[in-house]
Amino acid sequence: MKIARSAAALLLALAMMVPMAGAIRLTEPAPAETETEAEELPESAAADEAWKLLLVNPWNTLPEDFSVELVTLASCGLKVDKRIRTDLNEMFFACQEAGLRPLICSAYRTQAVQTRLYNNKISRLRAAGYSRESAVEEAGRWVAVPGTSEHQTGLALDIVSTGYQVLNKKQADTPEQKWLMEHCWEYGFILRYPSDKSEITGISYEPWHYRYVGKEAALAMRDSGQCLEEYLEALEEDAGQTGTSRTSPASIA
Ligand SMILES: [Zn+2]
Repeated sequence: MKIARSAAALLLALAMMVPMAGAIRLTEPAPAETETEAEELPESAAADEAWKLLLVNPWNTLPEDFSVELVTLASCGLKVDKRIRTDLNEMFFACQEAGLRPLICSAYRTQAVQTRLYNNKISRLRAAGYSRESAVEEAGRWVAVPGTSEHQTGLALDIVSTGYQVLNKKQADTPEQKWLMEHCWEYGFILRYPSDKSEITGISYEPWHYRYVGKEAALAMRDSGQCLEEYLEALEEDAGQTGTSRTSPASIA
């Protein structure tokens, strides 16, 4: 079982290198033996999995050629990547079966919408007395800089309790969030910005933002306590990849 898991991790790590070469910052090209191994793997299977682990954060912008096939969710009219619909529906159904009332308040966002949200946040901070520079810095902690929001992938959702639709830390105390945090991994989702990982994710605690990564990765992250950045780094190490670099969180803005 352990060997099978390692093999799967290697497969995923290798898969990520092909379409995400521009997304993950590598200081060195992949070693030649890795390329040889990649050729021996079933390429279509690897590519099939890679989209689930797309990394978009303050240091990894959405690939320029990114495109996604969207589907509109009947319950809220919002859009998500078509490939996550079944798992998302199952998670919602199970949550509702538990007597709860989850509500999706944000899903896919275009670059234009993300830009508007970001600029609005800066305007509000400026109105509250922030200097231009500090408003930009503070805004980046709460609203992702356009091009760096996971919502632009179609793989992220903000889910709140119907009974408490405020995006603040108290959201974590609602029965809906408690249920989602406990069960989301069963459906391939993770709570993307945990309270103790802000330095790594670059985003403050958000007990409402869920990200689809697929069931295998979600389970692995639940067991290890890793956030997505840590999980991907571990996969790279497993694949014999060294020399990743990451700008420090201090330079977000
Ligand atoms: Zn969100």
